[in-house]
Amino acid sequence: MPVDHGAIEASYDVLIAGGGLVGASLAMALRGSGLHVAVVEPVPPKADQQPSFDDRHTALAPTSRRFFQNLGLWDAIEPGVAPIRRIHVSDRGHGGFTRLSAEEEGLPALGHVAPNRVLGAALRPAMEAAATVLCPARIIDSQPLYDGAESGEARLTGRRVRVAFEDGERLLTTRLLVVADGMRSATRDALGVETDDRDYGQSAIIANLRTERPHAGVAFERFTPDGPLALLPAPDDAVSLVWTLPHDEAREVAGEWSDGAFLARLQQAFGWRLGRLEAVGQRHVYPLIAVTAERFATERAVILGNAAHALHPVAGQGLNLALRDVAALAEALGADPGEPSRLEAYARSRRSDYRRTFTFTDGLVRLFSNEFLPLVAARNIGLTALDLFPPARRLLLKQATGAAGDVPALCRD
Ligand SMILES: Cc1cc2nc3c(=O)[nH]c(=O)nc-3n(C[C@H](O)[C@H](O)[C@H](O)COP(=O)(O)OP(=O)(O)OC[C@H]3O[C@@H](n4cnc5c(N)ncnc54)[C@H](O)[C@@H]3O)c2cc1C
Repeated sequence: MPVDHGAIEASYDVLIAGGGLVGASLAMALRGSGLHVAVVEPVPPKADQQPSFDDRHTALAPTSRRFFQNLGLWDAIEPGVAPIRRIHVSDRGHGGFTRLSAEEEGLPALGHVAPNRVLGAALRPAMEAAATVLCPARIIDSQPLYDGAESGEARLTGRRVRVAFEDGERLLTTRLLVVADGMRSATRDALGVETDDRDYGQSAIIANLRTERPHAGVAFERFTPDGPLALLPAPDDAVSLVWTLPHDEAREVAGEWSDGAFLARLQQAFGWRLGRLEAVGQRHVYPLIAVTAERFATERAVILGNAAHALHPVAGQGLNLALRDVAALAEALGADPGEPSRLEAYARSRRSDYRRTFTFTDGLVRLFSNEFLPLVAARNIGLTALDLFPPARRLLLKQATGAAGDVPALCRD
């Protein structure tokens, strides 16, 4: 079907739907590429309801630190983060535990915990310097352009994608559309890319805590019969909580319980390794659903970040995996950024990292949600064996720190 080009306002090489953590990172990674890049984002960065740069903390793997270092952003981020010096993994009520230590591995840190607002404060101005930012603006439709006027037949040339906006006034084209508008991506749906969704039946409560004892850089991961519980070392001696509970319980515990009742229940689930849990800040609830797009690339479009794969946060892998995708994509693009063979090669190359990371994350949730006695015994023996057996621990660490498999150059030293 021939297209009325008269309505088109501007054309870009790369148009990124979503200026959250992933979209903004890609805009930065494409700086200096010579490509004309635009980012479309409906929510201003400092707005309370900005869904990406919110009150969460993100555990950044060393691959992500290097990514930000290589983009020249780490100096702006580092003063606002806390290093993870040790990780303590335990299975509540069953005694098995394992410990990972940066010092033993000869590393300065196993990772860093960054408030999402700190990441936003560094990424947003950098993104504005690197790309045209259309905000507030929301994409509602995108279609590959048909252009068969010359040959007299309607034929898909696949050279551009036409993008329509909610306000109905703008119409843009781009040679590559990057879909980074989150787990419930309207742009992905408009392209006809389906997803495989797995509801874990759990929600994560996140909040900041004050504890009697300082965290000393230790990240605690505790598996409980209700779901995993993480207490991460945050800046200013705060502790960042991610507490997984069945959906209804999470809503009730987070929304209706007093601070005192909340802390008492949490203390019971976590124990006393940080002394008394003294105070809790505002609580937020995130339903946990693993979403996987059936394809990571389609005609003149790439699906990225939560739009491509939203993971359970148990092992803090979602953004770290997405930043490795961003790095690989930035490295893969050529002068025509939407060239199909390059996009296909990119999508193929990212499958194994995705599969490994998904299996690791999903496997942890399943293994530790099960109270079948032989399995409980096996996983506790496994945790103890890991603690006593450094080579096995190193394998676990490799996956947890994003260093398994081929790591894109932008995520390496
Ligand atoms: C509780 C919790 C804890 C987590 N902890 C970790 C961790 O420790 N480590 C880790 O690596 N990962 C973690 N993650 C995962 C991480 O948060 C995600 O990987 C990350 O938010 C994905 O970013 P994104 O930019 O793809 O999507 P989002 O953060 O959802 O951002 C999407 C952006 O697109 C915009 N948008 C929406 N609709 C449109 C539209 N129609 N057009 C244009 N733009 C649009 C939104 O306003 C938003 O800015 C955690 C997740 C949760 C839920």
